[in-house]
Amino acid sequence: MKLVVQVRLLPTPEQAAALEATLHAVNQAANLVSQTAFAAGVTREYALRKITYGELKAAGLGAQTAQRVIKKVVDAYTTLRANIRAGNLGPQGSPRRKRAQSKPIAFRPSAAQPFDDRCLSWQLDARTVSIWTTAGRLRGVAFTGSADRIKTLTAYRKGESDLVTRDGMWFLIATCEVPDPPVATPDGFVGVDLGIANIATTSDGKRHSGRGLNAVRHRQRELRARLQAKGTKSAKRLLKKRRRKEARFAANTNHVIAKQIVTEAERTGRGIALEDLGGIRDRVRLRKPQRVTLHSWSFHQLGSFIAYKAARAGVAVVHVDPAYTSQACSSCGHVDKRNRPGQETFACTSCGFAEHADVNAARNIAARGVAGWAVSHAADDAA
Ligand SMILES: [Zn+2]
Repeated sequence: MKLVVQVRLLPTPEQAAALEATLHAVNQAANLVSQTAFAAGVTREYALRKITYGELKAAGLGAQTAQRVIKKVVDAYTTLRANIRAGNLGPQGSPRRKRAQSKPIAFRPSAAQPFDDRCLSWQLDARTVSIWTTAGRLRGVAFTGSADRIKTLTAYRKGESDLVTRDGMWFLIATCEVPDPPVATPDGFVGVDLGIANIATTSDGKRHSGRGLNAVRHRQRELRARLQAKGTKSAKRLLKKRRRKEARFAANTNHVIAKQIVTEAERTGRGIALEDLGGIRDRVRLRKPQRVTLHSWSFHQLGSFIAYKAARAGVAVVHVDPAYTSQACSSCGHVDKRNRPGQETFACTSCGFAEHADVNAARNIAARGVAGWAVSHAADDAA
């Protein structure tokens, strides 16, 4: 699988200045290329290179960097087209879509820039990189990262890395191609129910509370309201920083939960059954008071963290239809709305089985995981 590994650069003030000047230069060049592309209606790489390459070289960019800049612009237009096609900018004729199509794509002065192996080399043992800049090649730029990340980089780094600056810090984001171990045949499944009060509940009865995350979101929301009311430039900047902080916190929470679930499944030789998230937006829409608390992307993120950690550990993952998992009895299968006398309680009106509502749902998901695995592998055997 493709994996991105981020390390933090620790440049000296002089090195940081050179990196900053470089990002400014390449993004200025990207804006030039973007304007040419827009004016000429040309967004194919080869054609665009023909009309902009000479200019970029003349502006002092190296051959590799000039090509990276052109590719970056081409990729940005490809992404914009895909977003328009997917309806992410609204329907045809919507103001947002019109605005996006009415002018060249613009790059921020400090937008991320990809570097290939000729412009960036890694000295992993020494924890340094050597990187091309407009002030010449910088050697011995220190970086730091966990032992795990360095190991992954050493074994699997491949292709380009992005140079990124954020909140005054510098990062390299490298792509690694990590081979997946074979998926072990599971001996049963851990079912995972996703929710708001409990972000994730397993069929073993482990509840991963959303309390910390919900508290942070609540605080952020209040602060956001105050800052938005202010509307000043510094308030806007602070808002942006806060939003990123909240997203980081949520991502970190999801990482921790995903890791615990995958570790437990691996330890017990089981697979993981997850709800098919296609319908989660509809289901969640029903819970109005909590709607603002929920970011459905957060569920998708948790699902994808579990999926990739599981793939790395050779743990099977099955996605199951989540319909009625909250109303069905995980003991006798009886489905009834009245099985749920309260938000947290499940009590079967037929057999009397009682359990925490989320745990009951997770047990249903686990059972569907077993069935789903059997069906998909019966098909394999028949083929
Ligand atoms: Zn029952």
